[in-house]
Amino acid sequence: TNRVFSGAQPSGNMHLGNYLGAFRNWAKLQDDFECIYCVVDMHAITVWQDPEDLKNQVREAAAAYIASGVDPSKSILFNQSRVPGHAELAWIFNCVARIGWLNRMTQFKDKAGKNRENASVGLYVYPNLMAADILLYKATHVPVGEDQKQHLELTRDIAQKFNNDFGREMFPLTEPLILGEGARVMSLRDGTKKMSKSDPSEYSRINLNDDADTLALKIRKAKTDAELLPALAKDLEGRPEAQNLVGIYAALMDMSRDAVCGQFEGKGFGDFKKALTDVVVDKVAPITNEMTRLMADPAYIDSILQQGGEKAQAISEPILADIKKAVGFLA
Ligand code: ATP
Ligand code: MG
Repeated sequence: TNRVFSGAQPSGNMHLGNYLGAFRNWAKLQDDFECIYCVVDMHAITVWQDPEDLKNQVREAAAAYIASGVDPSKSILFNQSRVPGHAELAWIFNCVARIGWLNRMTQFKDKAGKNRENASVGLYVYPNLMAADILLYKATHVPVGEDQKQHLELTRDIAQKFNNDFGREMFPLTEPLILGEGARVMSLRDGTKKMSKSDPSEYSRINLNDDADTLALKIRKAKTDAELLPALAKDLEGRPEAQNLVGIYAALMDMSRDAVCGQFEGKGFGDFKKALTDVVVDKVAPITNEMTRLMADPAYIDSILQQGGEKAQAISEPILADIKKAVGFLA
């Protein structure tokens, strides 16, 4: 069977990159796959999260999924820490993955920054937990943004080594699903850096809960250049900020970058940003409104997560029991 697993960290500031690179694709997959969508709270605490804030961030992430079209009656929606198998399998994978593999992970280098000695051990072994999230359900497909490609390759390496070491075809080799124009949305301040929840600058990202005035201001302040829009997208080479804004427009309107350039050929970014603002407001406002509506009833969200957790537990239990037997654990 084909099974989809994906997740996002409840680290606050859900943004347009999360929507275009992940959430809206999750919604599209619901009719063709069995889908499991997780709020990965155990990943979030690899960097400091205030315990009181974390609870609401988890609910807000779940609200963002639902507002983006994830339907809890079709898909399983839960928070990771509810299902203990994630942590159990992550430990086994800590013993399967090699230090050399983790040393190659670029996200760790980016997130740990200069003061690597002071990063949490969790941040370092994060990709092993991510492999456990996916393989605990033997998921075959994982829809993610381009930034997660390297971690998915590691997941396949772990699956393969486990299968070799323990002499069984335990795990599938999971395929990434990196879909469409929105797979890599960049920062509004620096077109060479991805848009991130953890970027300290609010002006770097479009949050799913920004109001129309804030969206307009952020787009107006977005970095660009003084050149005009060319007829073809390939002529945006070497202009990362311009490429990014055209890419966002294309993704939101389901157009190609060439079609967007064709429409705005010869215009400057002053004009283009006005049109972009209208499109962003038009697409983001319904999500914002739905998130606000959902957040007014935290008990409803909690009940969805609890029910989803029970379903996830039921799927993972026999898989984890098999894995532990293969490793040689007495039960
Ligand atoms: P953080 O900075 O805390 O890591 P994040 O913005 O990277 O936050 P994640 O929770 O790590 O968000 O990722 C959730 C999903 O959103 C993943 O599938 C990831 O690939 C996708 N994603 C994150 N940022 C972008 C982006 N800029 N463009 C497209 N997809 C993205
Ligand atoms: Mg991330």
